[in-house]
Amino acid sequence: MRVHHLNCGLMCPPGGRLFDGFSRGAVGRLACHCLLVEMDDSLVLVDTGFGLKDVEAPHRRISTFFLYLDNIQLEEEMTALRQVEALGYRPRDVQHIVMTHLDFDHAGGLQDFPWARIHVMEAELEAAARRSGPRESRYSPEQLKGLRHWVTYGQDGARWNGFRAVRALEGLPPDILLVSLPGHTEGHAGVAVQDGDGWLLHAADSYFHRHEMDRPERECPLGARAYQRLMAVDFDLHLENQSRLRELYRDPHSRIAVFCTHDLVELAALQGLEGRSRPVAPQAQRRREEAAPSKAPGFSQARQ
Ligand SMILES: [Zn+2]
Repeated sequence: MRVHHLNCGLMCPPGGRLFDGFSRGAVGRLACHCLLVEMDDSLVLVDTGFGLKDVEAPHRRISTFFLYLDNIQLEEEMTALRQVEALGYRPRDVQHIVMTHLDFDHAGGLQDFPWARIHVMEAELEAAARRSGPRESRYSPEQLKGLRHWVTYGQDGARWNGFRAVRALEGLPPDILLVSLPGHTEGHAGVAVQDGDGWLLHAADSYFHRHEMDRPERECPLGARAYQRLMAVDFDLHLENQSRLRELYRDPHSRIAVFCTHDLVELAALQGLEGRSRPVAPQAQRRREEAAPSKAPGFSQARQ
């Protein structure tokens, strides 16, 4: 399997380095890190970021609160559909989409692949349908409207590196797993993908900044810290899962490369390693610090 690291969205929240830890201007730069996995005869997407319809009519699909709080930059070329085409594939080749959760910044591209089976935790689909609580506008009914090919999962009790995981996703090989990581949302999950003799673990919004993982104690820029607290349905559980991920991340014997959705430096480092025969972790992670974030897609679109 070959794995592509795509950036399917760019958010530039006010706060600069207080949000991302590196921007020098007034706004920060956050990625929407998605995966495109090449199978023998089809493609699998992990999350979709923002889609074509979000670009066309953002105010109809994304809450005004989040459009402005996150200062979302929408570019057609960044959508998963256009990036699949740019890689030389047909959109129809995307047969499965595995979702970490259904927040507006992850699910916007689902309708661009209406034929695909969408794999998600049952608790997450229920929460999106219910849309209750103070953070209800995180889920966009417009983005989820008309989608029919849902495949949902409860906890099946299987273990994977200390986490509960769903090992058998319908129609997919056992080297793609949903790893339960609730806290940010009710059915929030990571997605593990076997990569050579190691694994990639897309930990989605379990953390926002790499220093929450690569330091002995959690270190996080103030803005990203406040945003996580604002968005978590169970902040204690969010932190509990985060500290277990940190152990995995920092384990010198681990062959698992852990990364999140919104850290542009992590994304740039993993894109730099794409297609190479490489040690997966932790060596790959140490190299992230040296990565030049200005090379990551999204930087050219960012407003300084
Ligand atoms: Zn997110």
